[in-house]
Amino acid sequence: MRPEVLAQPAYQVADATGLIKLDAMENPHPWPGDLEDAWLAALRDPQLNRYPDAQALGLAAQVRTAHGVPEAAGLIFGNGSDELIQILITAVAGSGRPVLAPEPTFVMYGVLARALGVPFIGAPLNADFTLDLDAMRAAMAEHNPALVFLAYPNNPTGTLDDAARVQAIADENPGVTVVDEAYAPFAAHSFLSCVGEDDGLMVMRTVSKLGLAGARLGYLAGTPAWIDALDRLRLPYNINTLTQRSVAFALEHREALDAQARGIVEERDRLSERLTGTTGVEQVFPSQANFILFRVRAGAGHATFAALRDAGILIKDVGRAHPLLADCLRVTVGRPDENDAFLAALGQALAA
Ligand SMILES: *Cc1c(COP(=O)(O)O)cnc(C)c1O
Repeated sequence: MRPEVLAQPAYQVADATGLIKLDAMENPHPWPGDLEDAWLAALRDPQLNRYPDAQALGLAAQVRTAHGVPEAAGLIFGNGSDELIQILITAVAGSGRPVLAPEPTFVMYGVLARALGVPFIGAPLNADFTLDLDAMRAAMAEHNPALVFLAYPNNPTGTLDDAARVQAIADENPGVTVVDEAYAPFAAHSFLSCVGEDDGLMVMRTVSKLGLAGARLGYLAGTPAWIDALDRLRLPYNINTLTQRSVAFALEHREALDAQARGIVEERDRLSERLTGTTGVEQVFPSQANFILFRVRAGAGHATFAALRDAGILIKDVGRAHPLLADCLRVTVGRPDENDAFLAALGQALAA
């Protein structure tokens, strides 16, 4: 194996057994009971002896209508959007051109670039986690990236950057800009309606954060020429039958999930206000996602994370992921009772 692969640890998932799980941007709400029964009925006669619909055509038509994918755009599905990131980077591997993203951002861009032997360039965000347009321009001019990834809103910061700045990067990027809209259900703006005409812009979405993390389905929309080219790298039957049926069912009943998303947004804003008023919380960053990034007093980040875990609450310690994130913690918006338990434990941890 290549030494750079061996040097990289496997993706770490924290053990959440017995803990209130606020670490992974999952929707905390179960489906209403009658909906779950209807879903189980829809899964009857699954024909698991047959391979799945290879193109997931039925699901594609539903996604197009439900999410408003422009008619002019092509669509490709991945086993989670992580697989689409892998396909995109595989497509440019060997070209000699790197992948660029602002940092801190979603770790999989860098992880998959390294795994595929593609150089990864991180350009720092501003200290308030907005895009540093000058840094991005300089990096694009110097490195001629084949791909630029922009998480919109960004993870782990929650920032929904100024749309004009995102557009400027897409316009000036010599390669393709992938706007990763994993948190679209909670955000005020999207680029999806812009996709299909401009060769330089693709939009990626996932159903994970909406409430179907267990199904593993993401999609990428771009010009048909790009999508056809990327389809050559997709493994046959990558979207299994149970996922196709389950997501199709969920989209038919999407009002239930949309209502949950609206509730999560309300709860996010309440949680954000409460965090702002918590002694020992130095900064709460504005979020357009289903999580909140906040900073505790200097040096207290990891101890606060550990105290919360000891109190039965699992959040994410991102303090060592990037210098700009020192003493920052990321909490996923949970159910109101879970958020209250988190706030109480945080108050205690910071008072100690
Ligand atoms: C969670 C997340 C993803 C991964 O989504 P999956 O579809 O579950 O693989 C992609 N991008 C960002 C920015 C994310 O936070």
